[in-house]
Amino acid sequence: MKVLKFGGTSVGSATRMKEVAELVCNGQQNIVVLSAMSGTTNSLVEIANYLYKQNHEGANELISKLEQKYYGEVDSLYSTDEYKQKGKELIEYHFDYIKSFTIDMFTAFEEKAILAQGELISTAMFHYFLEESGTKSTLLSALDFMRIDKQNEPDLPYIKENTVKTLKEKEGFDIYVTQGYICRNAFGEIDNLQRGGSDYTASLIGAAISSDEIQIWTDIDGMHNNDPRFVEKTHSIANLSYDEAAELAYFGAKILHPTCVLPAKIGGIPVRLLNTMEPKSPGTLISAKQEKNRITAIAAKDNITAIKIKSGRMLLAYGFLRKVFEIFETYKTPIDMITTSEVGVSVTIDEDKHLNDIVDDLKKFGTVDVDTKQVIICVVGDLIAETKGYADKIFNALNNIPIRMISYGGSNYNVSILIDEKYKKEALNVLNDNLF
Ligand code: ADP
Ligand code: ASP
Ligand code: MG
Repeated sequence: MKVLKFGGTSVGSATRMKEVAELVCNGQQNIVVLSAMSGTTNSLVEIANYLYKQNHEGANELISKLEQKYYGEVDSLYSTDEYKQKGKELIEYHFDYIKSFTIDMFTAFEEKAILAQGELISTAMFHYFLEESGTKSTLLSALDFMRIDKQNEPDLPYIKENTVKTLKEKEGFDIYVTQGYICRNAFGEIDNLQRGGSDYTASLIGAAISSDEIQIWTDIDGMHNNDPRFVEKTHSIANLSYDEAAELAYFGAKILHPTCVLPAKIGGIPVRLLNTMEPKSPGTLISAKQEKNRITAIAAKDNITAIKIKSGRMLLAYGFLRKVFEIFETYKTPIDMITTSEVGVSVTIDEDKHLNDIVDDLKKFGTVDVDTKQVIICVVGDLIAETKGYADKIFNALNNIPIRMISYGGSNYNVSILIDEKYKKEALNVLNDNLF
């Protein structure tokens, strides 16, 4: 069995859903993971923000607009009166649910329930379409088998056991449709795998059932060598290793959810990135194979905060770094980059919710400087230390851009450079010119 995930643009209209149906009905048994139709999750976030502020009028206006859009889509999706009616009832049901939150108090719990509606609607719409066209399709609720634990990490044993069980209970179908992104948390409440999390759902399901392949279908022909939103003339990369893909995803290549490569890597399952709009183009194959001696791609991670702790007295003492890291651990804030010198240490974080507390605690050790609005530029490839010349190329390209931090050596696959966000586009472009 293969797992095929289609993102928001791929299911963004009735026409697109019909194209996806053609792709997935290929004579094999497939698990189809869908995102919400494009724009829906953003609208639901906006609705939730209104509800937090008790602005019911604003929320209702947005809800009505979104609801009308869906009535239009179901009308064009189905051809029979029976399914047009089923589609209409589906939209009514989910929007009545969303509207029920405009009356009472609103907390993170209600927000997550609202955010889940996009995927619940798109998958039911798609499943009805397959049924109407005579395909043996069944709809699985991801809430029955996707779960995160108290640390908000996927509960792997639970997911494996329950995915296998759910599939077994529904033997004999050709297409199994389910929701990306949504899950339950350790308390059984509706939750999610963070924005862009449908990719993660696909790789978790793929790993749970030891699938033959995981396919991520999107609106571009695979992983490009640079961010196509900021750089012209980027090109698709035919082969990526799991490690390269993981670095690129974590450091900002939006085509993949930051942590979705790991389950596939552990299970040794190939991941293919494919283009729904150009299904024949080869896309990118992610596997254990590492191409030698090449710079593969560049990515950029936004909204980074750099924190420098200067402490001449303590830095060389053993135990100092541990104490620094413990502070970040206390506030459950991951560190992305680290650099050290004899008088200080710099780290970066992208989650700044507890920044003030962290800085207050760090002040025990010395002076603390904070730079916000930074960007990590990440160059990924087979950059082993024995191969000369890469550093020269990278830093020559960045000659005119002030560099705040540099990190190499954590792996052979990544050089990370921290710069102010105002230089991001320029940095991506000059690196593109010099490295490829
Ligand atoms: P989906 O809705 O299918 O999940 P996303 O918008 O999350 O799609 O991801 C696809 C987008 O990622 C592309 O349209 C592209 O703009 C962006 N992107 C950023 N960096 C890269 C890259 N290195 N290669 C390919 N796409 C990238
Ligand atoms: N619909 C969710 C989002 O927009 C999840 C996804 O598309 O991967 O973030
Ligand atoms: Mg995505």
